[in-house]
Amino acid sequence: MVILRQQDAAMFVEFAVMRYDGGLERTVVFNRNDLSVRCSCKKYENEGILCGHALKVFDTVGIKIIPPEYIKRRWTKRARAGDCFDRRGQEVVADPKVMISTRYRELAPAMIKVATRAAMSEDTSKVAIIVISYLSKRVELLLSESEEQPLQN
Ligand SMILES: [Zn+2]
Repeated sequence: MVILRQQDAAMFVEFAVMRYDGGLERTVVFNRNDLSVRCSCKKYENEGILCGHALKVFDTVGIKIIPPEYIKRRWTKRARAGDCFDRRGQEVVADPKVMISTRYRELAPAMIKVATRAAMSEDTSKVAIIVISYLSKRVELLLSESEEQPLQN
């Protein structure tokens, strides 16, 4: 993928994106506020899978982790509830390592977002530190109390 043009506005950045080997030029609009993207090819709307154009834009703006709203239910822990089947109708068993990385991909951007906002002032920063330290203790407590292995849901 190659970025042909980039146009910055207050909240939105518009990119013209094309495959290296040609093909249609697509327009991807990136929203700086909620970190969302919208591509004119509509692959995400139609198939639920982010297109290469959108991924290129995420990469270009420095987002190396796909925001959680773009990770469909079949890639999340709810897939274990038994609503995920392959083409032959066999239930797909989730790989625990994939589950951990999926959860991490949901958590990390949320934490970064909070940190980014909290850093704006002394007060919000102090509150964030207190809440994070509480959160950290809760997480450790739950992990130590839990009889299930941490790999399970
Ligand atoms: Zn696209």
